[in-house]
Amino acid sequence: MNTGLFIFDTKARELKEVCAKNGFEVQIYCCGPTVYRDAHVGNLRTFLLSDLIKRTLTLSGFDSNLIQNITDVGHMAEDLAGAEIGEDKMLAQAKSEAIDPFEIARKYEANFHADLAKLNVIPASAYPKASETIDLMLELIERLIASDHAYVGSDGCVYFSATSFPSYGEISGNRLDSLKPGHRYEYVEDGAKKFHADWALWKAANNRTQMIWDSPWGPGFPGWHIECSAMSLHYLQGNVDLHIGGIDLRFPHHENERAQSNSGAGYEVVENWVHGEHLLFEGRKMSKSSGNVVLLNDVIAKGFDPLALRLSFMENRYRSQMDLTWETLKAADSTLDRWRKKFAQWQNDGDIDKQFVNEFCQGSLADIQHDLDTPRAIQQLRKLERDEYLSGATKASCFEIMDQIYALDISRAPKGKAEPTLEIVELLEKREIARASKDFGLSDQLRDQLTKLGISVKDSPTGQDWDWL
Ligand code: AMP
Ligand code: ZN
Repeated sequence: MNTGLFIFDTKARELKEVCAKNGFEVQIYCCGPTVYRDAHVGNLRTFLLSDLIKRTLTLSGFDSNLIQNITDVGHMAEDLAGAEIGEDKMLAQAKSEAIDPFEIARKYEANFHADLAKLNVIPASAYPKASETIDLMLELIERLIASDHAYVGSDGCVYFSATSFPSYGEISGNRLDSLKPGHRYEYVEDGAKKFHADWALWKAANNRTQMIWDSPWGPGFPGWHIECSAMSLHYLQGNVDLHIGGIDLRFPHHENERAQSNSGAGYEVVENWVHGEHLLFEGRKMSKSSGNVVLLNDVIAKGFDPLALRLSFMENRYRSQMDLTWETLKAADSTLDRWRKKFAQWQNDGDIDKQFVNEFCQGSLADIQHDLDTPRAIQQLRKLERDEYLSGATKASCFEIMDQIYALDISRAPKGKAEPTLEIVELLEKREIARASKDFGLSDQLRDQLTKLGISVKDSPTGQDWDWL
């Protein structure tokens, strides 16, 4: 089933039309957060990418089924070119906050959901947790061993045999022959691996006592990449129409996931690998060490509407690196407020030109269906805002329909009292004069006219006061 939505596939290196292979619903998998800390606005850019795609499909008339994993085990502090070394991110954070790692996971998982809600993200169909899907991973690992795609190393860990998957590297271009030994791979497992580019599917517990599970190979814990294979194969019935993640996950995470999934299933599991480019903040990579990690709560603490972040992202193409600044957010915040004020006025202004609304929305949808060209679509919205000939009601209708994708709550009440239109100002002035000259008939007539424009008028000894209805 074709959807009319074309998105760049990192593997094919070209635009590909999104199709629902099962004929009724587009199956989407989006790599979720590692819940050892709050998601920063960069992470949120990637999560909003999947929401944008989902909403675009909905407005295009197609259903979708989105699965997003919660990584709460097995993601090591340093993922160096395929070799995951260092401490488990969850355990390291548990130690630093002196609480149980599962408590850490549930705390940051709750914060993640709260952030998504503030950003108007439509919840996924399921958010499976790595720690609760160990069985799925064990089953897949056993299948990979049985089909000679994996083996138990001399250190008791289970490794994927990279050379058993000849098309390794097609997503990122990092083919096995270019991943030379002597690369950072080697020193990690002390020769337990048969080939330097093999990676761990299951890690032996050794001295680790927390977040470990029994397995046919002894107690241990899963590698990070295997969870996304196990979950996408299981929850999306072995067929992923769209796989979404940040560009950093292209290699090794997605390359390894593809090798595992395809080897387990016996066919190409993912149709389209979609990668969102990274977000910089004030010109720099967001990192804890450089102290410029910005969270959604920081944006809110500055007095900005969280949806200003959504608007800022949409004014940039998902495949371009973006530099977010406080200035950008401030500008987006005031744009939002202005749109909401205008929307409140427009609604009661004139008739809706249905043909125009239809053509405008079709045009905007076509822009977005073309590799998510939201900057162009938002530009059209700005042009529409400035149009001097269309009725307010027509503009309001366009904004309202397109807000099903933008999700900026355009119809929400603006921050302060919205500016009255010129027509309203003139009617209010006329009424003031009518009252002063005790022409109460005219004054009542003007009040009725104002009511129709959404204005309530109150009279007091000091004059008339007005408000939006
Ligand atoms: P993590 O919680 O680190 O596993 O990352 C969650 C998602 O955020 C992944 O899809 C990453 O690729 C993505 N991501 C990480 N940093 C950034 C960034 N600066 N800009 C956009 N996406 C990012
Ligand atoms: Zn993943």
